[in-house]
Order: sequence, then structure tokens, then C-alpha cells
Amino acid sequence: MAGKSATKTTSKAAIKPKLIKMREPGQNPLLEDWATPFKIPPFDRIELAHFVPAFEKGFAAERKAIAAIANNPAPATFANTIDALEHSGDTLDRAATVFFNLAGTDTNEEIQAIERAMAPRFAKHGMRIYQDETLFARVDALFKRRKRLKLTEEQQRVLERYHRAFVKAGAGLEPKAKKRMAAIAARMSVLGTHFSQNLLADEQAFVLVLEGEADLAGLPEAVRAAAAQTANERGHKGKHAITLSRSSIEPFLQYSARRDLREKAFNAWIMRGANGGKTDNRKIVAEILDLRAERARLLGFKTAADSALEFSMAKTPANVRKLLMEVWGPARARAGEERDQLQGAAQAEGGNFELAAWDWRYYAEKVRKAKFDVDDNEIKPYLQLDSVIAAAFDVANKLFGVTITERTDLPVYHPEVRAFEVKRDGKHVGVFLGDYFARPSKHSGAWMSGWRKQEKLAGNIAPVVVNVMNFAKGAPGEPTLLSLDDARTLFHEFGHGLHGLLSNVTYPSVSGTSVEKDFVELPSQLYEHWLMRPEVLTKFARHYKTGKPVPPALLKRLQAARNFNQGFKTVEYLAAAIVDLDLHTLASAKGLDVDRFEKETLGRIDMPAEIVMRHRIPHFQHIMGGYAAGYYSYMWSEVMDADAFRAFEETGDVFDPKLAERLRDHIYSAGGSHDAAEAYIAFRGRLPTTQALLEGRGLVEAGPAR
Ligand SMILES: [Zn+2]
Repeated sequence: MAGKSATKTTSKAAIKPKLIKMREPGQNPLLEDWATPFKIPPFDRIELAHFVPAFEKGFAAERKAIAAIANNPAPATFANTIDALEHSGDTLDRAATVFFNLAGTDTNEEIQAIERAMAPRFAKHGMRIYQDETLFARVDALFKRRKRLKLTEEQQRVLERYHRAFVKAGAGLEPKAKKRMAAIAARMSVLGTHFSQNLLADEQAFVLVLEGEADLAGLPEAVRAAAAQTANERGHKGKHAITLSRSSIEPFLQYSARRDLREKAFNAWIMRGANGGKTDNRKIVAEILDLRAERARLLGFKTAADSALEFSMAKTPANVRKLLMEVWGPARARAGEERDQLQGAAQAEGGNFELAAWDWRYYAEKVRKAKFDVDDNEIKPYLQLDSVIAAAFDVANKLFGVTITERTDLPVYHPEVRAFEVKRDGKHVGVFLGDYFARPSKHSGAWMSGWRKQEKLAGNIAPVVVNVMNFAKGAPGEPTLLSLDDARTLFHEFGHGLHGLLSNVTYPSVSGTSVEKDFVELPSQLYEHWLMRPEVLTKFARHYKTGKPVPPALLKRLQAARNFNQGFKTVEYLAAAIVDLDLHTLASAKGLDVDRFEKETLGRIDMPAEIVMRHRIPHFQHIMGGYAAGYYSYMWSEVMDADAFRAFEETGDVFDPKLAERLRDHIYSAGGSHDAAEAYIAFRGRLPTTQALLEGRGLVEAGPAR
């Protein structure tokens, strides 16, 4: 996942009186000019009571700035309108980025109450700006004359984006429609917060405590150690526990020989958000979808997907569907073969049952081990968290010439967070924070976010970014060992991190990861390719006890096993992407029965009964936020990342300096300052094809490199 929006969230009633107590001006660190190193937020001085007053000041300051821009008696110029807009919300942004990072990584009831209270305020504030007629008239006037303004390409893009944001907020609509647009935005912000908090509540509520050896059957040492640590954190000292965090439950499903416990844990996992009662998300989803459909109609689009895709690389729902279905056929066929193999393995063991969804990972692991003589855990002792971090940094050094050094003197928001300074040619590039471990107060998943974007409009501003992950921490005194998937996630998020860190643009609104949403996963997914290179693994994948490098034979077996189970992986992903697209191409979602919709859609594409979509609708967090009608973008980006990495393979040097320079200039540093397709062509010389992706996933036979 890429950056979480700073203004994603939302009811005043729940807020506790002490939180809205106003402080004396000057006492609120969120409103000060930070004197910390690199102007990192002074986390140690920020208290919960500071947020709401800072938001209030921020709202007021931005309203004032907006009024000054809108009512400027001078005719609209790029400088007095667009430049001015770029920094109109600084006070608010500063407080909001600190708050929403905390809400994602270390939340509690008070923070959640503030979120619920503030979300509609943020939505209302945004709508007030983007529906301001006087302001829109200035932006519109500039937009209409944009060809004659002698703008740089970046400035044209910035202007287009502002214009688009106003139009999408309904600035050009009749007063009645505008009012409705604002009401929809406010309501959606409330619903979005509830969705996310319900999900967290369901995740916190479930813990599978394993009592004694019988419950631990099949679990290898590393999984036991992580489960012991989890039990400790969840108040079951001396026992073992499994939670619904991906890095806890997936290894359990993969190894537990207890079919009954696998079923129990799996069902809890796939029922998140659909358990009835207060935390049920199904009605919330239906209402959000219906509001999105209505909003799209108000703006003159057929469906929400048409509206969401207008400014993407894919452009239309039809183009997205074409890509998804192009891959679905081969993936579905491969998954069928895999299922038969797994059913055979279950029967060979004496299992007299039809393979179920909670059996897939378990038998896949057995078949994989038999076929390739490799088990996921064999690699774990070679993948210490610290070594994988070092590997990610080293790749960045080889490709982009950056050096990254840990700093223990920088402010962090939680004792587990680590801070690093990034430099190039001895000069400061930015600050990178890594927040790697799962904790009950953290939302699940992995993402990149930040406190400051690179820009040059207000002087040479260096970025401060963070990677948040949910790895199971090693036992006290033991290093944290990662699975290959975890290591890939680390590389993935660090790829997003570099997209923010290496940004080299003038305007904050096109900085770093502010790109078309089906382009944003390219820098992250492309980065994953370097992890699996022998050049990287032999150097950094060293046994945590012996220091010996990972045996070449194990690497070879791992490489050979890589395409194993790709039918499953592609199908579980594509099913979610297709459901997302179908949900957003509904003409109306009034009273939508999401369970029935999910079932019917999956039936239509002939979803294998033994595979569950990667994120079922009631906990499909991606489609609540910026990835609505956009979950396809992972595959859209994968078409590009497979094709882009092939460019390096074709040179025979995965660190080819000339290619790396083009990669930096046109992709990692360019932010949204250029059209995405043009940026890709500037790097590669042509647009990508799906060939490298299909071959990379082993879904078609590899042809000659082209
Ligand atoms: Zn991502």
C-alpha cells in the first residue's frame, strides 16, 4: 500500500471534554516551528490534547489563506493562485500528518474518538475549499489559458491537477448539486472511519491461544517462537497465540497440522468486518458504494469507476477489465491444476475430505517441500530483519548512489521506531523512519507515509518518510527472522520510501508518490525484484547463528519454487480486483447485499471454491480509501515492473549504471511532474507489454527475451 491520505478520516459527540480543552497559544508544539534535527516532529512533546486545538487553528489559517487568494483584486496568475494554494494548508497538514500516523501505528480509544470527531470536519473543510466559486473561477481562468501561460511541464501538470480536484468536488455544478456533493463527502468520511475502526476491533478481539503440544502440532520452531512472543504481548504468558495479523496467521495456516484449528483461525480471518453486531461493515460498504455512484452521476459519469479512472494510466473500466481478464484465464487454469495436486497430497496422507480453503496453504507447503525440497522456514534463519534492511539500503546505494546511516539522536514516535539519515554525495537527501513490528495498537498491513514532502517552492525542503510494517518480533534476545514474503514487503515499502526520498520536483502537490494511482506501485514492486537476485542474497542472507551465507543450492531451489502456487496467488488477487471493479461499475448500490454480490461475481468468473479472495468486501480496506476502483493497479504496475526489470536483465547487469540513472530521473525522482505513460517511455523507450508478467508468474512458457 502506498501513502495513506492525511485527511482520510471523522462525530463530535464521542469526544472527551479534556481533549478539546484549548491550550494557551505557544504551548502547542504542533503549532511551533520545529527546532528538532531535520524538523522531524517533536514527538516527545506532543500530547493528545494538542491535536484538536491545532486542527482548529489549521482550519482557520487555511480558510484565511484561501480567502486571500480568492479575493485578490489582481487578475489570476500562476504565482498568486497556484503557488499560493500549494502552501495554504501547511499548519493543518503538519498537525494532520502527525495525528494520522499515530492513528495508524499506535492508536487507542482517545485517538479513535478524535478520528471520529474530526473526519467530517476535514471533509467539510476540503469541500469548502474545492467548492469555493471565486477560487474556482481563478483556477478555471488559468486552466483555460494554460497553453498561453508559458508554464513548465511540471507547472502545467500542477494546474491540471488543481483544476481536476475542483471539478471532482463539484465546483462547476449547480448550487443544489454542490450541496449534495458536500453532504456526500461528509457522510463518507464518517463511514470510512467506522469501517477502519470496526476492522481493527475485530482484529483485536480475536486471539487463538494454543494450549500445549497438541495445539502446536506441525509448527516449526520459528513459528512457535513468534507465537510465544504474541501470547506474551496479548497477556497469555508462557503459552502460544495466533492473531489475525497476516504475519501471524499465514504461517499458522501453512504449518499447523490441526485441521480443526486451521478452520477456526481461517474463518475468523475471512469474517473480519462481517460478524454482525456493532463492528459489522457490510451496511457501511453498501452505503459508501451508493454514495460514490451518486457522486459520479452528479459529475456526469456513468459509474464511480469511470470517474475514478478518468485520470489514471488505464483511463477506462474497459481497459482495466481487459488486463484483468487477460491474466485471469491462465491463472484460473493454473489454480485448477494446483488444486488437483493438493487434493492428491491430502489423500496420500489419508485425508478423506474435499480440500477446503483452510487446507490450501498447508498442503501447498507440503507439495512445495516434496517437489522442490524447500520449506519456507529454511530461508528464515538467513533473513534477519537487520540484514534485510541493510540489503534494501545497499541496493539503493548501488542503483542511486545514496548512503543510509542509522541515527539514534532523532525524535521517534514509538520506542520501536528506528531513524536513518539518507545522503548522496555527502549531502542530506532526507530522513527515513522504519516502524517494523506488529503491536495490538497498530493497524494491520504495511504502508509508506511521511511528515514532509520534498519540494523547492518554499526553499529546498528535504523529505521525511516512514515505512510501517507488521512483522512478528523475535523473542527477547533473539533476532527477528523474516519469511521471504516479509522480506519482499520490506523491499516493497522501501521502494515507496525511495519514491518519496529521491523526489526532485518543485511543487509539493506533484512530489514523490503523488502520481497516478496505477503508477504508484511501480517503484515499490520493481524494487522487490532486487531482493531475489543472487548478488543481493549471497551477501546479506547470512545465517543468524553461524554467519554462513545462504547455500547456493537452497537459493536455486527457492528460485525454482518461486512460481509454485502462482495460480493461487494470482487468482486470490485478481478475484479481489475484479470484485472491486464490479462494485464500482454498479449504477446504484442502494441496499446492496454485499455477501450476495460477492458470491455472484465470483460465481460468474468461476472462482475456485477452495480459494478466497485476498480481501473480502467487509474488510477490503484498500477500496475504502484511495484504491477504490483501483485495486487493479497492483497488476497494472506489475506489468510495468516486470517489463522494467527485464530492461536490467537485458543489459546483463542488474545495477547497470546508465539504466539506473534513467530509472532515477524518469521514475523515482520525477513524482507526478510528467504524464505516467510518457515517464515510462522515457525510461524504457516504449510502453510495457504483459509478456514479462505472464512469464514472471510462470503462467505462460518463457519465450526469448525481447
Ligand atoms: Zn505498495
